[in-house]
Amino acid sequence: MEHYPSLAKNYAPPPFNAVKGQGIFLYDDQGNQYLDFTSGIAVTSLGHSHPKWTSAIQEQLHNLVHCSNLFGIPSQQQLADKLVEIAGPGRLLFCNSGAEANEALIKLARLHGLKKSKKTGQTCHQVITATNAFHGRTFGCMAATPQEKIQKGFHPMLEGFRYAEFNNIESFKEQVDPSVAAIMIETIQGEGGIFPAENKFLQDLQQLCQDNDLLLIIDEVQCGIGRTGDFFAYQESGITPDAIGMAKGLGGGFPIGAIWINQAHEELFQPGSHGTTFGGNPLASVSGNTVIDTIFEDKLLEKVQKQSKQWHEKIHNLKTKYPNKIHEIRGKGYMVGISVDDALAITHSSRDKGLLIVPAGQNTIRLLPPLIAEETHLNQSIKILDSVFKNA
Ligand SMILES: *Cc1c(COP(=O)(O)O)cnc(C)c1O
Repeated sequence: MEHYPSLAKNYAPPPFNAVKGQGIFLYDDQGNQYLDFTSGIAVTSLGHSHPKWTSAIQEQLHNLVHCSNLFGIPSQQQLADKLVEIAGPGRLLFCNSGAEANEALIKLARLHGLKKSKKTGQTCHQVITATNAFHGRTFGCMAATPQEKIQKGFHPMLEGFRYAEFNNIESFKEQVDPSVAAIMIETIQGEGGIFPAENKFLQDLQQLCQDNDLLLIIDEVQCGIGRTGDFFAYQESGITPDAIGMAKGLGGGFPIGAIWINQAHEELFQPGSHGTTFGGNPLASVSGNTVIDTIFEDKLLEKVQKQSKQWHEKIHNLKTKYPNKIHEIRGKGYMVGISVDDALAITHSSRDKGLLIVPAGQNTIRLLPPLIAEETHLNQSIKILDSVFKNA
């Protein structure tokens, strides 16, 4: 297809028009059915049109859609309670997207730096992020994303970011001095090509932050909300972050983002520090509540843990079968990256065979089934990938 004449050309021309989604399947306007392992890029965590999600949203539509944070929003308070129960004592601030969550986190880092500079007498506002990271497309997030393809054309960047090598604690240590306020890191780099942070690396980062009074900020926008089989991917490492950013899967398709702030730093934001018109509005909050409730009621974390084991085994069997075509398999749970020679070509031929996947980083295909994916769906993806690699 061509670019649609009245749409900006930011995205590649689409292969088809998507008009319907049901469970794990997406349908185009020609009636073709696709196994959707993109999940709207890790968004539709409950699949499409999940009955619990759809009816909760429908009910809320009749009650109250929006009223701003001028007033108390019970569904937002409930969502915050749920996330505190999972992440630990602290507070939530809601927004509408991953980039907005990270912007709020960068602001939090600046406030922490200011507080620190009052103690030390030295200016402090630097944030260290990792090579190959992706934190979003706004000016703050772009500066946090040391990738030429993201920053190109938009210089000068927001000042105050330094970069260190992912999974290399010594590299992070080298960047720390009194002007540094925070470290921000994805637990599993998503857009960068599915690269998990090692548990030891995260633990060492936590120690580094404690030793130097830095905020440890974890970007779970893509890997969080059950995708890895833990609610948050960092939980496997046993660390306690100072702040967490989340979005994508949290609303199950309705736009919502959030940051969790550890109790130790909850005084940094005060009335007037930061805000947004839509953040955590009643409809968005209901979508988040329904996603979290469904994850626990339907035991989706256990399901992802159990089913992904067999699925990963089968992906590794494909690598054994096609050793020259599959180079590496990375990721956890329902977040898998397979490095290949030509990710775009593999993505296209998978689609032609009815499986939707999405390229990531350099030469990686990314598989992000919804958390509701059953063994049969996972097996179907293996069958399709087998025939794709056979002909690749
Ligand atoms: C997608 C993503 C973002 C940006 O989220 P948007 O909702 O697109 O602004 C930030 N961080 C990570 C890790 C992401 O995957």
